[in-house]
Amino acid sequence: MLELPEIETLRRETEREIGGRKVKSIVVDKAHLAEGIKLSDFKRTEGAKINSVKRRGACLVMNLDTGDRIIIDVSEGVALRKVKGDEPVWAEFAFNQGGPLRMLADIGDPRIGVLTTAELEAALPPTGAIDLAEQAVSWVTFARALVGAGGPLRTLLTDPGLVESIGPLYADEILWQAGLRADRRAEKLGSQELRRLYRAVAEVLHDSLKAGGTTTAANAFSDLSGKGGGFQDSLEVYGRDGQPCRRCRGTVVLDKFDGKPTYRCPQCQV
Ligand SMILES: [Zn+2]
Repeated sequence: MLELPEIETLRRETEREIGGRKVKSIVVDKAHLAEGIKLSDFKRTEGAKINSVKRRGACLVMNLDTGDRIIIDVSEGVALRKVKGDEPVWAEFAFNQGGPLRMLADIGDPRIGVLTTAELEAALPPTGAIDLAEQAVSWVTFARALVGAGGPLRTLLTDPGLVESIGPLYADEILWQAGLRADRRAEKLGSQELRRLYRAVAEVLHDSLKAGGTTTAANAFSDLSGKGGGFQDSLEVYGRDGQPCRRCRGTVVLDKFDGKPTYRCPQCQV
């Protein structure tokens, strides 16, 4: 699955590439239509200008000057390309200037739709989740949200209603960075530990964004040029089971938390 650094990398690139352009046509394979959307709905986007590209959960949202929103649900992955390749194309966005943007068939099961603003708000209401790539949030606000919700840290970090788009990979990296176990409960943490967790979330997401996201076998992420991210070279625990922890030289293990695979260092995460 794509997590926040990858979705935000795609958002930034897409906005840079197509922001300000006018839609000439959008051709979508019907296998990738979002629920309730018809192919003919895309007809009304022709001639509209793309004002901006935003994120809403695991969706990219293209805001058109007509008030319509084109959404691409990238939660299961997506391959968007500004360059031509040999792979089959599931959707093609053509503009009045510049080359087209294509969605290729080789990654995930992305869903596309065109919605009015009101339909978007009804279908994907804002969650109010903490989004450290979007706005500056103080450690106190962050701590209050987690302590208020209460529960094991890994469950809270991967709750999309609480923290924006963090999945298994970044949750494990954040908890290692903070030196905390997945099963520690937020409401039982001391203020130093909460600060450390906050700093770990901010640092891990920031560093991954700076590296252009993470590309692994399970997370086949690539940018609009088809290039992978760079953060996989900096992973401390994810995918490193059996290897020495770079902080304490203990051995990184893969076990389960709440039935889900989790990478951690049993020595320095307490
Ligand atoms: Zn360690």
